[in-house]
Amino acid sequence: MSDHFRGLPGDWLEHVPDAMLIVDGEGKIEAANPRAERLFGYMPRELPGQSFDLLMPVQFGAKEGEERGEFCAAAGEGVFVAGIRKDGTEFAAEISWSALGGSDDGSATVAIRDITERNGAAAQLVEKMTELRHSNEALEQFAHVASHDLQEPLRMVASYTQLLSKRYRGKLDSDADEFIAYAVDGTRRMKRLIEDLLLYSRAGRGSPPFRIFRSEAALQEALTNLRTAIEESQALVTYDALPTVVAADSQVVQVFQNLVGNAIKYRGEATPQIHVSARTTEEEWIFSVADNGIGIEPRFYERVFEIFQRLHGRGEYEGTGIGLAICKRILQQQGGRIWVESESGKGSVFHFALPVR
Ligand code: ADP
Repeated sequence: MSDHFRGLPGDWLEHVPDAMLIVDGEGKIEAANPRAERLFGYMPRELPGQSFDLLMPVQFGAKEGEERGEFCAAAGEGVFVAGIRKDGTEFAAEISWSALGGSDDGSATVAIRDITERNGAAAQLVEKMTELRHSNEALEQFAHVASHDLQEPLRMVASYTQLLSKRYRGKLDSDADEFIAYAVDGTRRMKRLIEDLLLYSRAGRGSPPFRIFRSEAALQEALTNLRTAIEESQALVTYDALPTVVAADSQVVQVFQNLVGNAIKYRGEATPQIHVSARTTEEEWIFSVADNGIGIEPRFYERVFEIFQRLHGRGEYEGTGIGLAICKRILQQQGGRIWVESESGKGSVFHFALPVR
């Protein structure tokens, strides 16, 4: 043991929560605190003079100075290794290695922490997450099957109520006309809900393949799908030159369609004016869909993206409360994100980001 450690008391660094060692340039232990002795199962004062390899043999087995140098450099940040107790049992440890101040002979202070418990907690977390994923998958499977299988009987109910309405309107009494109208309206809404639920469950079931495509073409396709709504509302939809991106194109069409569709639906008194633009940071393409509609209060910025959350009753605006939840899911699948900025009464800007690939 070199002279300057000889005077270290047996309770050196007793109250430090980590095991602490001083190791010389040859890998020999010069001092160990009581916590280190307990952690590795040695008697007091038994460790000094022993080789550090005894405690952590993996990195030091080869006894190569160079290997040790590399390891020490890495361990400055904290690395995970297996520690070996005196009885030969192993435990997971995190060690940090720092050169001893003032000495240039390679001696260092080593802090060692038993992370078995932490590892146990991480393993439990992984287990719980796997369970959660399985139950989510089961739920999604259920939503998919239920909405898919409901379509068939619904189609039958819808076509027969429509037939009733066509054939018997004005031929029965006025109550009958009213009841049939309710039934037709109910089936129409149920159809919409089932279609949206199917879209939502599909958006969570793995993304379609990524392609390189012009996002402008995706927007144009969305606008074609919205043609009737655009014509009826006389909405003016404009857009800047939009970039070529790598993503699942059909999903991006869906996002544009939901956002522009909402911008038309939640219009105020004025004719809807909608503008789509894009900008880039180094990591993302950020698209923005701005409208001059009724706007959203800041306290609802998060809530509108949750499934079935609507800020308006059906009497005011039709809808299922699924559209923005679909957008959020799609963007999560694509490694992107979506958010809104708005001023009540002055319109909203929905932004969504796709990673630059
Ligand atoms: P839906 O339109 O079917 O209700 P969404 O998930 O698309 O469902 O939207 C959720 C809610 O967010 C809507 O009910 C509406 O209150 C609000 N919202 C969405 N887009 C806009 C918009 N452009 N302007 C104002 N409010 C909006």
